[in-house]
Amino acid sequence: MGIAPSPIQIDSRVTDFIAKPRKMLIDGKWVNAVSGKTFPTYNPATGEVLAQVAEGDRADIDLAVKAARKAFDSGPWSRMTASERGKLVWKLADLLEEHMEEFATLETLDNGKPLTVARAADVPLAVDLFRYMAGWATKLEGTTIPLSVPYTPGAIYHAYTLREPVGVVGQIIPWNFPLLMAAWKLGPALASGCTVVLKPAEQTPLSALRLGELFAEAGFPDGVVNIVPGYGETAGAALAAHDLVDKIAFTGSTEVGKLIVHAATGNLKKVSLELGGKSPNVVFKDADMDAAIAGAASAIFFNHGQCCCAGSRLYVERPAFDRVVEGVASKAKKIKVGSGLDPATHMGPLVSEEQLQRVCNYLEIGMAEGAKAASGGRRIDGKGYFVEPTVLVETKDYMKVVQEEIFGPVVAAIPFDNPEELLTRANDSVYGLAAGIWTHDVSKAHRTAALLRAGTVWINCYNIFDAALPFGGYKQSGWGREMGKDVLNLYTQTKAVCTRL
Ligand code: ADP
Repeated sequence: MGIAPSPIQIDSRVTDFIAKPRKMLIDGKWVNAVSGKTFPTYNPATGEVLAQVAEGDRADIDLAVKAARKAFDSGPWSRMTASERGKLVWKLADLLEEHMEEFATLETLDNGKPLTVARAADVPLAVDLFRYMAGWATKLEGTTIPLSVPYTPGAIYHAYTLREPVGVVGQIIPWNFPLLMAAWKLGPALASGCTVVLKPAEQTPLSALRLGELFAEAGFPDGVVNIVPGYGETAGAALAAHDLVDKIAFTGSTEVGKLIVHAATGNLKKVSLELGGKSPNVVFKDADMDAAIAGAASAIFFNHGQCCCAGSRLYVERPAFDRVVEGVASKAKKIKVGSGLDPATHMGPLVSEEQLQRVCNYLEIGMAEGAKAASGGRRIDGKGYFVEPTVLVETKDYMKVVQEEIFGPVVAAIPFDNPEELLTRANDSVYGLAAGIWTHDVSKAHRTAALLRAGTVWINCYNIFDAALPFGGYKQSGWGREMGKDVLNLYTQTKAVCTRL
C-alpha cells in the first residue's frame, strides 16, 4: 500500500476503505464496472498505488443515467416535499461532519494536500455548503404576474411561475478539491430536486465514493445520486453526450469545457462550466505591506497553486515591487514541502506525475524565454510529485508563464506604473475568474474592482469562500455561477402558468 511513513496513525476506517477495490454507485447498489475493469489511484506523496477503483465507461454511465432518469421521472424523490428534501441534505451534512477526520485523511492520501488544510477547509466547507443548500430547498419560489394582454380586451388572467428542477444532471468534477467540488455540485442539484450522475476525477475518486455511502445512510432514495468513477475521455465524454441527461455541470480546464459544450449539442442539454483562470492579484503601493505579502503568497501557494482562482499574476505598483517580491520569495523559501500527513507540512505534492510534468515544463519554458526565479523554480528530487514554490520575475506579458494557466505553485511578479496600465494588463487574458486588490484607499479599491473583468474580486483578502457567495467566471472562465442563490438558477427552470378567470 503506497502510504508514506508518517507520524500520524491512519484511521483504520480509511485503511479498510482503501484496502478493497472500490465499486461504483448505481441505483443504490455498489457494483463493479460492466467491463470488470479497475484503475489505480495513486498516493502523490509516494507515487505508489493507493487503491483500485471500478473503471466506469459508456455502459456504466448508461445504467447510471437510466437509474437517475427513473428516480426523477417516477421515484419517491419527486413526490417528496421540499422540506423532506431539505432535511435529507441537512442529514447528509451532519453525517459528513461526524466523519470529518476520515474524509480529511482520505483527501490527503488521494490528493496530497496537507491534512491540516483538509481539516480546516475542504471538509468544513463541504459540510457548510450542504447545510446552506438544505435551507434553499423550501425557498425556491415562483412569482405571480399581472398580465395586460392587448388582444383580449377585458379578459382577466391569473398568471404565475413555478420553479421546477431541471431533471437528470450529469456532474463532472476535478481533482483539486475532490470532496468540496462534489459538494458544490451535489448540494444545489439535490436542494432543487434534480437527480444526479457524478463522475469524480480519475486522480481522486475516493472521497466521492465514501460520500456515496452516506447518501443511503441519510435516507436518499435509490438512484437519486449515482457515482461513476472513470476517465474523462471515456466515462466523462459519455455522460456529457448522453441523450437522457438534461443538464451537464462541469468544473475543470477550459480546454475540456469546450469539449463538453460540443458533446452537449446532441440533445442541447443545459451546460454550466466552472473553468480555468490566470487571476491578477494587484498590490498598490499604499497597501498594508505585511498583509499584502502574506496574502499574495497564500493566493498562489494555497493548495499548491492547484486552484482555478490562484493569484498567479502578481501585479505590484513599482515603488513597492522589490519589497513585495522579496517578501513573497522569502515566504516561499520557508514553506515546508512534504507529505500531507506530516503535521509540519505546509505544502504537499502536486496531484499526479502528469501535473508535475506540466508545471516543470512551464518552468523550463519560462526560464528559456528569459524569466528568472526569485525563489524555487525546480522539481524536488526523490519520491512523490513535489515542486518548489516559485516566484518568477523579469517576465514579459506575452510569455506562456504569464498568459497560460500553470495550475501549480508558480507566480509571475510584474511591476506596473499607473492604474490605467494596470487595468489593461490585468484584463489582458482569455480568463476572468478572480482577482485580488490590496490597498488602503477604499475608493480606488472599488473603482478597480468594477473595472476588473472577473467573476470574483477580493479586496484586502484572497481565497475567501462561503457557500452564500457566488463564484464563477467571466470570459473563458465559465458559464454560470457556483454557490450562493445564483447556482439554483442552473438547476431549476421556470414554468409560466396562465389561467383565464
Ligand atoms: P485537469 O487537466 O486539471 O486534469 P480536466 O479538465 O482534464 O482537468 O479534468 C476535469 C474533469 O473532466 C475530470 O473529471 C476529467 O476526468 C474530466 N474530463 C476530462 N476530459 C473529458 C472529456 N473529454 N469529456 C468529459 N470529461 C472529461
